[in-house]
Amino acid sequence: MAIRNIREFGDPVLRKECKPVKEVTDRIRVLVEDMIDTMNEANGVGLAAPQVGILKQIVVIDVGEGPIVMLNPRILLTEGEQTGIEGCLSLPGKVAEVTRPMHVRAVYQNLDMQEVEIEGDELLARAICHELDHLHGVLYTDKANCEAYDPEEEER
Ligand code: ZN
Repeated sequence: MAIRNIREFGDPVLRKECKPVKEVTDRIRVLVEDMIDTMNEANGVGLAAPQVGILKQIVVIDVGEGPIVMLNPRILLTEGEQTGIEGCLSLPGKVAEVTRPMHVRAVYQNLDMQEVEIEGDELLARAICHELDHLHGVLYTDKANCEAYDPEEEER
């Protein structure tokens, strides 16, 4: 198990566009394993490759049902709306209110480069949108309804 260093807001790597994965090499497999370990260690529900400094279209998501590894993911359809509190492992200790779709259908390739469709509601839909944004240099603070704040400090 290898924990990678999570890049934080202000690091220019988080603002770059990621390149598609064309082939699953041993390096990619190790990266994916490390991303899952790093996400679990940080108690996150998702992690995108640029957050560990790699500009490839790879995300891992785990909303409590085991890790989903998505290569080259893209959203096919969104429905509805949900507004809730969201955080990011690249902005530790901060959260903000973000409006996201309630339902998402996405397509991606798995580690065998097979195309897989996934549908998600609520937290999974939110996680898919948040992580896919990372692949295009978009951070949740860009879409938040308020400034990111420390929930332990803020009197609300
Ligand atoms: Zn994030």
